[in-house]
Amino acid sequence: MARKVVKKTAQPVKKSVIKKVKTSLKKVASKSTKKKIVLEPIMMQPPRGMRDILPGEQEYWNRIRMVLDKEYPKYGFGRIDIPAVEYSNLFVRSIGEGTDVIDKEMYSFLTKGKDKVALRPEMTAGIARAYIQHGMNVLSKPVKLFSTGPVYRYDRPQEGRYREHFQANFDILGEEDAVLDAQIIQLAHRIMGNLGIKDIQFQINSIGCPCCRKEYIEMLISYFDSKKKKLCKTCKARLKTNPLRILDCKEDKCVQVSATAPQTVDHLCDPCRDHFKDLLEYLDELELPYAINPQLVRGLDYYTRTVFEIWSVGEEGKKRSLGGGGRYDKLIENLGGEPTPAIGFALGLDRLAMEMKRIKAKSYESPKPRIFIAQLGSLAKKKSLRLFANLEKEGILIAESFGRGSLKSQLRSANRLGVEMTIIIGQKEALDETVIIKNMVTGTQETIPQEKVLNAVKKTLKTKPMIIRKKK
Ligand code: AMP
Repeated sequence: MARKVVKKTAQPVKKSVIKKVKTSLKKVASKSTKKKIVLEPIMMQPPRGMRDILPGEQEYWNRIRMVLDKEYPKYGFGRIDIPAVEYSNLFVRSIGEGTDVIDKEMYSFLTKGKDKVALRPEMTAGIARAYIQHGMNVLSKPVKLFSTGPVYRYDRPQEGRYREHFQANFDILGEEDAVLDAQIIQLAHRIMGNLGIKDIQFQINSIGCPCCRKEYIEMLISYFDSKKKKLCKTCKARLKTNPLRILDCKEDKCVQVSATAPQTVDHLCDPCRDHFKDLLEYLDELELPYAINPQLVRGLDYYTRTVFEIWSVGEEGKKRSLGGGGRYDKLIENLGGEPTPAIGFALGLDRLAMEMKRIKAKSYESPKPRIFIAQLGSLAKKKSLRLFANLEKEGILIAESFGRGSLKSQLRSANRLGVEMTIIIGQKEALDETVIIKNMVTGTQETIPQEKVLNAVKKTLKTKPMIIRKKK
């Protein structure tokens, strides 16, 4: 029997169904838009321990930058810029497990690609990595590198201690001679002097080489072990992880115990003792202010022999470390490079700026313009923009307030800046290709052709400043 074929025809969709679909689509849409507009509140401040250094605070920073830029080439350093982020294990291997920097202070994280990286807690490890990576061992020795930038430590923030702070780093690689230790200390002293920071003292110590240090550490452990009860909780743990670090613990009870502990300088092997002796002789020769500090160990694994810090000694009894460094003769080798003795130090730029402010040191004064351009009308604005560029090309510093329309308010700005000459271009001058030159001291003014402006400006600048500006 033939089957009856039922032809299916498109049925009109019921209105109620359309309504249902529309409302559910609306719901989905409103849900997804709702998701988009739920914004987390933004904290109008940087993370704790980090801060903005505003234009108004830059006067000391500018002086520091200027002095650093002037000094590092004089001592034969070349600038190197390295990333603020490196693979974490570079720092762990260089600085060492059991140090505060690695165990407590390093900002380490996994990237989206699952790489273990860290914000640099100091610069030497990155410099050592770059030295090996770029085959700098073939360069003539010593290789002197200067670098500067932010470093990050998850420390407890307080005055002069930030989670992001800035350092200038000087490294000399490829020479073992103590003369370089002395030279780098001399450079630090010179920079301090140029910043106006005179009351400083170098704290110096030698922590020996892995050879003599091994024996010394055993002696130190047995000494601290016998006084274990008197140590703070952290130092009790340090006894196992980093006993040398107990020597520079600031807790009163640990300071007392450390005072009678065996000293590194009494347990140096002959080559290390000679090296330290040579350094002290060089420092005496240079008449640099230093003191031997047997307690100074500088807590990072990579240090060998010379370690030093720069302390400000001005404020009654309050000593602040402005910089520090030391030898790291084994670091390059430990990271896989060829044996390369090296020494370096870092200046804490935030601390330098603080110290300069405290002692009211000379800050950097940015050059002040002596000429102002004022304009009135759209054509005049175009002409003055061009004139500004032409004068600036000639190395002439010009002030302006192009955004303002009224001549009165522009002249007010010119007065406030204490300029001596204002070049005025109005609609008429713009069409005539002339300018008005107003002498801000006498108030007189004259109209001259535009091509004569440069000469008129140069003539004014040749004279001594007529307006004595009040110092801020
Ligand atoms: P360090 O590598 O710890 O010896 O640091 C070198 C210099 O950087 C120190 O002498 C300080 O002047 C400065 N410095 C170290 N840590 C901080 C910090 N958390 N905040 C500001 N400055 C610091």
